[in-house]
Amino acid sequence: MNDEIRRQFPFFQQPNHGRELAYLDSAASAQKPQVVLDALERLYARDYANIHRGVYELSARATRAHEGARKTVARFLGARNSSEIIFVRGATEAINLLANTIGRQRLGYGDEILITHMEHHANIVPWQMLCEQTGATLRVTEINDQGELDLDSYAALLGPRTRIVSATHVSNALGTINPLGEMIRLAHERDALFVVDGAQAVPHLPVDVRELDCDFYVFSGHKLYGPTGIGVLYGKQELLAEMPPYQGGGDMIASVTFAQTTYAEPPARFEAGTPDIAGAVGLAAAIDFVEGIGFDAIQAHDAELLAYGTKRLLEIPNLRLVGTAREKVAVLSFVTDIHPHDLATVLDKQGVAVRAGHHCAQPLMERFGVAATTRASLCVFNNKADLDALADGLLEARRIFHP
Ligand SMILES: *Cc1c(COP(=O)(O)O)cnc(C)c1O
Repeated sequence: MNDEIRRQFPFFQQPNHGRELAYLDSAASAQKPQVVLDALERLYARDYANIHRGVYELSARATRAHEGARKTVARFLGARNSSEIIFVRGATEAINLLANTIGRQRLGYGDEILITHMEHHANIVPWQMLCEQTGATLRVTEINDQGELDLDSYAALLGPRTRIVSATHVSNALGTINPLGEMIRLAHERDALFVVDGAQAVPHLPVDVRELDCDFYVFSGHKLYGPTGIGVLYGKQELLAEMPPYQGGGDMIASVTFAQTTYAEPPARFEAGTPDIAGAVGLAAAIDFVEGIGFDAIQAHDAELLAYGTKRLLEIPNLRLVGTAREKVAVLSFVTDIHPHDLATVLDKQGVAVRAGHHCAQPLMERFGVAATTRASLCVFNNKADLDALADGLLEARRIFHP
């Protein structure tokens, strides 16, 4: 399947020291297939106008494209209704929206928010800010040495004051897939709301928010082969209906007078101002692209690359994998006796793009006793040659630093 998919990404057609770049940083942001670029161009070139406002045909066309994208996202996540899909800037904005709306509404002094030790800063800091504002306390579920969530720790930390649980579906730094079904069931037994950070999950796994029964699910378009600047907040209709607006402005109101403003129903209530119209349309094209490949094929490819990459990396002397969960996606984080930044610099010269650093998960790095790791993250356009280039590059780095 793979060469044909790779050819759909114009990125790989540019010369890079005479070979294709081994792009192993899709967990930070994925390259874009031609169909996404075409959708953006079509929207801007032919169907562009501001939405919701114009009575003229062109504005109606742009509005249809935008609302069609909302339907595509709703189907992709298995939502009951497209009004449960709020377009935002990305996972970060979605979590901030939740903290500032339902968070402020539901939390008071002494209440608790439960997260996990493997969260991205985007799923830590907004909750810490909310704790500062409300006097609530942030609690953290432990993980084991493989980077798997400790369900006993989780169950013990869920208490009568837990109002919100927010957890990542898939860890960006470790690749771990969390046992969300069980976690959500336990949270609901305690009447806590459950927020899922799906930023790393949607490119790898099929997601069904109704089957999960999560209350909220967030993700970013740019990690799913879509444009930057667009992301999604899914929320159960009955919860969204109760929530106050996040930002005020045009398009989120029912009526405005200087004495009083009443708000529109969701999703409009949470989408003040002109949205990223083209971004939403580009995201829908990315979703069509992913669904065209199909998650059976995506998961099989993922498992094959994960097994091959793990084997190749374990051949490198003094390399330790960070994150060896039984359930994981194709993310390979590791440390060696060479500093991750030096390693990434040498790899870059070999035409291999990896990430080195704390991966916006400093508490997680601390848990594993490292300041940083080198991370190779794989997706639909990667192949075994990319992993061979990584392994060769690592051996070259050894020759340089430990001759
Ligand atoms: C990337 C990422 C985020 C933040 O996404 P943005 O697109 O930067 O808003 C949040 N959580 C996880 C797990 C991520 O990987």
